[in-house]
Amino acid sequence: MSKKSKRAVVLLSGGLDSSTLAYYVKDIGYDLYTITFDYGQRSRRELNSAEEIGRILGVKEHKFIKINLREIGGSALTDELEVPKGREEMPATEDPQIPITYVPARNTIFLSISLAYAEVVGADAIFYGANCLDYSGYPDCRPEYIDAFREVARLGTKRGVEGSPIRIETPFLFYDKSQIVKKALELNVPIEKTWSCYEDGEEPCGKCESCLLRKKGIESVFLERAKRSLK
Ligand SMILES: [Zn+2]
Repeated sequence: MSKKSKRAVVLLSGGLDSSTLAYYVKDIGYDLYTITFDYGQRSRRELNSAEEIGRILGVKEHKFIKINLREIGGSALTDELEVPKGREEMPATEDPQIPITYVPARNTIFLSISLAYAEVVGADAIFYGANCLDYSGYPDCRPEYIDAFREVARLGTKRGVEGSPIRIETPFLFYDKSQIVKKALELNVPIEKTWSCYEDGEEPCGKCESCLLRKKGIESVFLERAKRSLK
C-alpha cells in the first residue's frame, strides 16, 4: 500500500522569498498545492514568474485566484500612486511609518482563501513566506499576527473543530534577505526567473524597496563568498 502523501498549500507570489519557500517545502517532502493571487497588482510580471516556478517544481495543482483589490485601493501596489524609491538610507525596521506599498489587510485575505483551499485539498499545512526582519513595517508580517491567524485556523474550520487544525508555517519568519538567498542557492532555485519588483516592465526597476532588499541580499552573499575565496 502506498504511503499517503503529505500535502501543503504554499502561497506563491513569484518573488524570491515565496519561490524559495516552495522549493523548501518540496524538499522536506510535501506534495505542493500552490496558490497565487492576481489581486490587481501593478506588477504583472510576478504572475508569470509564479506560473513558471510552479511548472518547474511540478506542483500537484496551481490555483490562480483573481480578487480585485483595486476596487478597494489604498496602496501604491494597486493604485496609480508612485511606488517609493530608494528607501535604503533608512532600514525599514527603524522607520515607524507603514509604507504606502502596504496593501490593506492583504495577508488576512490571502491566508483566509488559502485556508479554505487547504481544507478542501486535505493539506496539513499552509506555508507562507512572511518575513519580519527585512520586512517593510507591514503589520500582517509580524509574529504576533501569524500566531493570531493560527487561532483563526483552529477555531474557524471543520478540521480545527475535529482536532487536526491546519498548521500555519512560516519557516523564513526570522531570516534576513541574505539567508533567503543562501537557501535559494542551496536548493537550486532559478533566482533569475523570480520577480520581486513592485513595478512592472521588461526589467526590474532596481530602485523600489523590494528591489533594493533583493539586491542587498544577493550582493552580501556573493561578497562573503568572494572574501572567503581570497583567504
Ligand atoms: Zn523594483
